[in-house]
Amino acid sequence: MPRKLAAGNWKMNGLRANLKELETLAQRHSDASVDILICLPTTLITTCQDTLFDIGGQDCHTAESGAYTGDISAPMLSDAGATYVITGHSERRADHGETDQIVAAKSAAANAAGLTAIICVGETLDQREAGTTLDIIEGQLAGSIPDGATADNTVIAYEPVWAIGTGKVPTLEQIAEVHAHIRAKLQARFSDGADMSILYGGSVKGSNAADIFAVPHVDGALVGGASLKADDFSPIISALE
Ligand code: PGA
Repeated sequence: MPRKLAAGNWKMNGLRANLKELETLAQRHSDASVDILICLPTTLITTCQDTLFDIGGQDCHTAESGAYTGDISAPMLSDAGATYVITGHSERRADHGETDQIVAAKSAAANAAGLTAIICVGETLDQREAGTTLDIIEGQLAGSIPDGATADNTVIAYEPVWAIGTGKVPTLEQIAEVHAHIRAKLQARFSDGADMSILYGGSVKGSNAADIFAVPHVDGALVGGASLKADDFSPIISALE
């Protein structure tokens, strides 16, 4: 069975004072029946003492160490207490020119350091309107998932680029179609592809989470804006339980 995962992505948000949101969340979900992950800015990872949640990074370099000013390696994230890292988020693909090949190399580096990679895929609005969504997703999956991926070290996140931070959400039928396609591709390539978690991401909030989680092959969510406040993230966690 795929793990059920409520994952928050704080992006470039959060100072130490904001960690109090996690204390509130921990009080409310101390007996959670699903995995809860918070992908923090790197500066907060070592500061975050909360042990109820898994902690993740939002990106890592392909190399273990070296002359890469400003970058963070997967072993560094692991050393700081992270167990997950997001790779290939559309903001990294768009703003930092990350190709499928780079995403695969980062994911392999994450796995080598003992981290679970949350590999993001998703179509743009132009691609959706051109009717090429499934082809785009298939290409991203083939190119971005490293060969050593397993259900233990890899989670896939389907995030339509046009749904991120916009308040727009695909229909449940559209989510179902893409998630079923991803599941089929994972099962065709990996012996444990049936057990790999597939998250939906893009404008998930308390009011739409339960409907989205009821869609087949949706094993949780990758949540941006609504993960920053305990009051917003808490109902999403509850909807997954
Ligand atoms: P959002 O972001 O929930 O703010 O739409 C999701 C993401 O980018 O992971």
